[in-house]
Amino acid sequence: MNSAAAIARLEQASSLAAKCRLCPRRCGVNRMRGEIGACGAGRHARLFMEYVHWAEDADIVPAQTLYLTGCNLSCRFCQTADERARLPSARLDSKLFAGILARGKAAGARTVNILGGEPTVNLPALLEIFAETGDFPGLVWNSNLYGTAEAFALLDGIVDIYMGDIKFGNSACAKKLAGAADAGEAAAERAMEIFARSPEALIVRHLLLPGHFACCAEPVLRWIACHLPGVRVSLKTVYMPPRDLAERQPEKRFLTPEETSRANRLALSLGLRLTRDAASPPPGGDETGNTPGIEPTAFETIIASDGAVYLRHVTREASEMLRAAVGGPY
Ligand code: SF4
Repeated sequence: MNSAAAIARLEQASSLAAKCRLCPRRCGVNRMRGEIGACGAGRHARLFMEYVHWAEDADIVPAQTLYLTGCNLSCRFCQTADERARLPSARLDSKLFAGILARGKAAGARTVNILGGEPTVNLPALLEIFAETGDFPGLVWNSNLYGTAEAFALLDGIVDIYMGDIKFGNSACAKKLAGAADAGEAAAERAMEIFARSPEALIVRHLLLPGHFACCAEPVLRWIACHLPGVRVSLKTVYMPPRDLAERQPEKRFLTPEETSRANRLALSLGLRLTRDAASPPPGGDETGNTPGIEPTAFETIIASDGAVYLRHVTREASEMLRAAVGGPY
């Protein structure tokens, strides 16, 4: 992260937020005066969780990971929505940020992974913090790519790695599952712009959704192969069915092993450059990184300050065992 670039972009970012057009929702509210738009973010960035993440993509771990409030999509399958709603948040300023950076460095973190929510909705506040912090290596912008071209252009030369989601292959799925029909289209445009500026800085992530192979996984993977040749691709298989979704909804189930292998086979047949999940089994597995017949069993345990225990990236088998052992909620 280059603090001189952060200082240089601060005024433009503030101007975008003063009549907010940081993302395609273009709410037009004055975020710099504390007005709040559809994402729920205000003038300052607010932090609700942070820890050193060991189970993200191998290309970025160990990652000092900061979760900010504020998101411009409403994904039904969001893995942090519960924590975002439940956990108290604190204003993130440069002093708090510097302390977190120091702790992460002492724990061996090699990247600083900013996510949310969506970090882009907090762009002016984050640039302010970066400007005051000074240079540091390994800034990861962990984003749904649902931002405007103007906002993302300001990140050039500041962000070291973009972990960008392309979640949906069509507007109907994007509308139904994330409340934004243009989410897939906007993400594809931002990915192409970032790739044109710095191809090695981009990792495109696609979370496999149950029952969405033909409508989402296949078109997204084919699009990546065609428009972003050689880009790193993270194919995520950690989908968790939302607890509040009606039983008969197609997304109310885990991925099947067949869905996972079908998507992996397609990615490989398209020649995509797949990244490895740090939670995947060690070498000895097949070309997808997984040992045939055995799913990864590593998952994260987070103990919150109120004593609540959160488990993330839990496999289907582990989830079923836990459900049988402790009952819901799980
Ligand atoms: S960042 Fe938030 S306030 Fe700004 S346009 Fe997007 S949703 Fe609206």
